[in-house]
Order: sequence, then C-alpha cells, then structure tokens
Amino acid sequence: MKAWTHFLRGVVLKLLYPFLMFLGAFMKSKKSYFQSYIIKLNNSLVMRNTTNPSKILILLPHCIQNSECDIRLTFDVFKCKKCGKCKIKDLLEIAEKNGVFISIATGGTIARKVVKDIRPDAIVAVACERDLSSGVVDTYPIPVIGILNERPQGPCFNTTVNLKKVEDAVECLLKNKTQDK
Ligand code: SF4
Repeated sequence: MKAWTHFLRGVVLKLLYPFLMFLGAFMKSKKSYFQSYIIKLNNSLVMRNTTNPSKILILLPHCIQNSECDIRLTFDVFKCKKCGKCKIKDLLEIAEKNGVFISIATGGTIARKVVKDIRPDAIVAVACERDLSSGVVDTYPIPVIGILNERPQGPCFNTTVNLKKVEDAVECLLKNKTQDK
C-alpha cells in the first residue's frame, strides 16, 4: 500500500471514525450512516491502492450460517457440507476458486485471533455496519475491504451477502497483485 494511502486511511480510521462515533452518540439515528460512510471511504482507498497481497482472507460473521445447521464452523469452515441452505457454500467456492483463506468469527475476539493466526496481507470482511467499521479500525493497518451483510430476517439471524460484491472484492485485490508483478 502506498504511503499516502496508508496515511489517509489512518486519518479516516483513527481520527474521523472516533469523531463521527462521538457525533453518533448524540445523533443515534445517524450512527449506522456514519459507520457505512467510514466503510465506503476506507474501501475506496483500499481498492485503488492495495498492491501485491500474497495472503487474502475472507472473514465472515457467524450469523451468515443457517440457524438450523448444527455443524460447528468457527474453527474450521471447511466442515460445511455445502448443502446450499446458506451462502457459506458459495463463499467457500469463491475462496477455493481464487485460492484465498476463508474463516468464520463469532465475535471480535475470535476475529482478532483468526487475523493473528493467518496474518493476512489483505482482508475481505462481511458484517453489519457496527462490526465492520470497528473491525476495519481494529485491524488497521491491514487493508480491509468491508462488505455489508443483508438482514432479511433481522439483525444477527440468517444473514446473507451479495456474492458478486465478495467476488469483485477478492478479484480486485488479486488484480492489484497481478499488476504489481
Ligand atoms: S451450506 Fe454449509 S453451513 Fe450452510 S446450512 Fe449447508 S452445511 Fe450448513
């Protein structure tokens, strides 16, 4: 990542984000809008300027797994039987096709452990506005492309994601890798 992008991300994540969260404490209805704004700003910087990531990780929230599926995926997402009842199947296929790491985290502590263990050069993370914005800030300076989940049944339950956005994000990072050679 270029030095100026690194610096700009630092300004966005370490200065603008806490300032907007401070404002959000008084303007509660705007808080998730501020979080989305930070994610968008961060994404545009990461997508244009992340070069040569050799290890890419797709990091998913636990709530994307179908609530009726009793397979424990937190420490091994490849235990998924690919039945197709949730998007884990498709996300595994995206990871396999592109040769990138993939993992599920049940919360911030596990997410931090996954990042510490895998030590990715870049991350494609899926989550809600709150978890995504705080996760992007926590993992700085690692470049993260954040993709908001979809919540047709409400928050934290049988959530889903636009697969094309995930695939585009992975391909964008891989393209940057190829261009840098
Ligand atoms: S696709 Fe995988 S994780 Fe989703 S319900 Fe089927 S077996 Fe469970």
